[in-house]
Amino acid sequence: MNSIFAELPVSIFEVMSRLAREHDAVNLGQGFPDDPGPEDVRRRAAEAVVDGWNQYPSSLGLPELRHAVAAHYKHWQDLSLDPETEIMITSGATEAIAGALLALIEPGDEVVLFQPLYDAYLPLVRRAGGVPRIVKLEPPHWRFTEEMLAQAFTPKTRVVMFNNPLNPAGTVYPREDLELLARFCEKFDAIAICDEVWEHVVFDGRRHVPLLGLPQMRERCVKIGSAGKIFSLTGWKVGFVCAAPSILRVLAKAHQFITFTTPPNLQAAVAYGLGKADDYFETMRRDLQRSRDRFAAGLKGLGFPVLEAQSTYFINVDLKPLGLNEDDESFCKRLVTEHKVAAIPVSAFCADEPLRSVVRFCFAKRDATLDLALERIAGALKHTG
Ligand code: GLN
Repeated sequence: MNSIFAELPVSIFEVMSRLAREHDAVNLGQGFPDDPGPEDVRRRAAEAVVDGWNQYPSSLGLPELRHAVAAHYKHWQDLSLDPETEIMITSGATEAIAGALLALIEPGDEVVLFQPLYDAYLPLVRRAGGVPRIVKLEPPHWRFTEEMLAQAFTPKTRVVMFNNPLNPAGTVYPREDLELLARFCEKFDAIAICDEVWEHVVFDGRRHVPLLGLPQMRERCVKIGSAGKIFSLTGWKVGFVCAAPSILRVLAKAHQFITFTTPPNLQAAVAYGLGKADDYFETMRRDLQRSRDRFAAGLKGLGFPVLEAQSTYFINVDLKPLGLNEDDESFCKRLVTEHKVAAIPVSAFCADEPLRSVVRFCFAKRDATLDLALERIAGALKHTG
């Protein structure tokens, strides 16, 4: 069997969700909202299942969805994308990432990644034959510097895997950081695979800037988005890939032999949803921001050092100053088994020199869910105190 996959642990999200079910815990581990998602979008999907086309759509995706993605990114990010040659629909962002890595890497090519890294990246890079070069980001700001990039990029660099906003840190990278990364991509002739699934889930009036929007990156970027995050429908697995025609053409070859296409009814509903008025997106952000603030205040009240969450469904705490005498993994294990709250140890997002004191909580939940979790987390502190 292939040793990369044979030796992999089960994904931390699956492990934690399973433990949460077994222990009847509040699941703040795997990132999904407990809100059912916009009813009009779900109804569109239901109607499309009953009355619509249920045979294979085009491998690139329903034309109406590709046009909707182009219009959506024009409106929100001022990008001009040709829906015929620069946009493809995938079965979720993870498929898009896998396909992009398979399509862009030759064995031995180096791939620059940023740690903490989403757990799918490293095995997919390795399986595609890529050699990882990891930039280690540190709390509280998780920013990268010119020196850090200079150490990671080499003449063998072919691809940069860039997650912005960054899960689990919740960092939204400002334009100056993108300019810095772009300079390295240009100098080393690298393509950036930009996982931007959190692009709409940004707080405090921040705006997400897509790397592909920088003129010098227009021809060397793969921008990946996800309906799951935009509409709080994480199980739908409808992703979008945007890239210049010369790149997209090759990505489409990978996609045609991974999933070939994506359920047409979900695509139709997403096409409808992307055209929703600005108010929907603003309300979604405002509601999530309110949940973030409620949960952050609760954690601070318990004495946790809470790291800033500029984006995503997640907030991180640093256990170090609490003197608990346990690392992130043992804390999360104890929290779920003894106190019935599931969270994610951030060391699961690390390859080299893991951070061992940061724990991620998903705050995309109803008030009652968050309050119950806080009550139980308080018990976990008393226990050791
Ligand atoms: N993106 C989700 C998270 O970070 C997990 C998705 C998954 O379980 N594969 O929690």
